[in-house]
Amino acid sequence: MNCGKVIFVGAGPGDPELITVKGARHLGLADVVLADRLASDDIVRTYAPEAQVIAVGKQCRKGSSTPQETINALMVQHAQAGSYVVRLKGGDVSLFSNILDELVALHAKGIPYEIVPGITAAMGAAAYAGIPLTARNMSTAVRFLTCYKKDLVAESYWKELAATDDTLVFYMSGETLPMLAERLTFYGIDATKRLSIVEQATTPAQQVATFDIYDYHQLSTKPALASPALVIVGKVVGLHENFSWIDNSPTGEEYFSPVTGKVISKAAEGLTAALLTA
Ligand code: SAH
Repeated sequence: MNCGKVIFVGAGPGDPELITVKGARHLGLADVVLADRLASDDIVRTYAPEAQVIAVGKQCRKGSSTPQETINALMVQHAQAGSYVVRLKGGDVSLFSNILDELVALHAKGIPYEIVPGITAAMGAAAYAGIPLTARNMSTAVRFLTCYKKDLVAESYWKELAATDDTLVFYMSGETLPMLAERLTFYGIDATKRLSIVEQATTPAQQVATFDIYDYHQLSTKPALASPALVIVGKVVGLHENFSWIDNSPTGEEYFSPVTGKVISKAAEGLTAALLTA
């Protein structure tokens, strides 16, 4: 039996035009696409119209996620059946994405793979919000972080984060944002640094809100956030006011489909269906 192959492809943060030429080429060759929730459906429709597309999204907040073992098993089984499999991940493939688990699973079975990077959400959000992530006299470095749960970041590190001039970009931190603002203000973050929340970056539903961190911390009712959202903290956030080039979406619609656990194109039979319902 001829073994297939798995290609990890970064879909970019939302705007379907932000996929790479190489990623689009691989999608055109795919028999099977295993797609994250945060990979635009338009990308799959445009570049892989013939492929069997299986939504293997994760959405922990909504409590409906495809277990990692199921995703690993789907990749392995479809590749072993000889398929050309594209594992389409939101943003870049290597950031906050569990790619290591998936590589280990493929490596263990000797299945060949390639890795195609993508534009990560931080880059997309920064560009589409008009916020240069580094700028002379403001910030000479950027940190990509997450604090998706309390206690993930050590107390000594909060202190350092409050003190640094590096731009801070927090992924998966919408839920913990009040705590994040509390920690940074507690450690006396410079008041010239601002906080920006970029929701559904690079999509037609994009919304950008910027705050004085101390004001945000004082708000008794914090604004509800649409998913996905990214938080940027630093002096550079103030540049948004002058350099923003896209108006906020007037509607609160959701660009990305919720996770349903269902196959989104072409009937999945046998193995796929069994794995997804297991
Ligand atoms: N691999 C992805 C990140 C996956 S973690 C990447 O490189 O971008 C998922 C988190 O990424 C979300 O909780 C959110 O914080 C961020 N994110 C992804 N797409 C986004 C978007 N379009 N707008 C804002 N944040 C986004």
